[in-house]
Amino acid sequence: MTAPPAKLPAGVRLALTPGVERRRVALLLDRDGTLVHEKNYLHRLADVRLQAGAATLVRTANAAGIAVAAVSNQSGIDRGMFGWDAYDAVEAEIDRRLRARGARLDARIANGYHPDHTRGWGARHAHWRKPGPGMLLLVLERLGVRPKRAWMVGDMASDAAAAKAAGLAGAVHVETGHGRAQRQAALAAASRGFRVLPAHSVGEAQALLAAEGLFSSHS
Ligand SMILES: [Mg+2]
Repeated sequence: MTAPPAKLPAGVRLALTPGVERRRVALLLDRDGTLVHEKNYLHRLADVRLQAGAATLVRTANAAGIAVAAVSNQSGIDRGMFGWDAYDAVEAEIDRRLRARGARLDARIANGYHPDHTRGWGARHAHWRKPGPGMLLLVLERLGVRPKRAWMVGDMASDAAAAKAAGLAGAVHVETGHGRAQRQAALAAASRGFRVLPAHSVGEAQALLAAEGLFSSHS
C-alpha cells in the first residue's frame, strides 16, 4: 500500500492500495480485538496473531469485490508507548499473514489520539478518533463507497457508535477482544436506520453479513 497525497491532520495515517477506488460496497474492520487478537497497545511483531476467522472474512470480501479497510484507534502513539514506525511494522506483519492466507486489505486508517494524552485535544481530534466518524468517512470517500453501502465489524461500543455517526448500514459487534464487556453498550447504538448485529466470533460475523447479502458479487 502507498500513502496517498492526502491533506490529513497530523496524527492520522491513511494507506490505500492503488486501484481500489470506485468500489460499490465496503467492509470496515476494527483492528485490535477484531482483525487481530487484543494485546493492549499492540506494537511488537511477536504479538501479532490473526483472530480466528479474520483471514477468511477478508478473503471472502476480496472475492466478492468488496473493499476491505482496517479502521483503528492507536492511542499508544500519543501515550508515548510506540511510534508510527512500530505501527507500520505491525501493519506490514498483518499484511504478510493475511497474504499467506490469500487475503488482503485494500485500505487502512488509524489515529494516534487520546483525550488524556493528545496535546490541545479538541473536537477536531474527537472527529478522527472512534466513536467519531472521521476515519470511516474519509476511507469510504477514498474507496468511492457511500456510507449506506458499508458495514463495520468491531469489538468496542465505539466501533458501532462510529459506524452510526458515519451513516453506515450497520455494525456487527463481536465478543472477541473487549467485546464481552462492551456488548450492552454496543447494542445500545442501534436505532431506526442503524442496525447492530451481535456475533460471538468473527466467523459468526461473516455468517450474519452473508445473510445480509453483503457477499453477493459486487465486482
Ligand atoms: Mg478493537
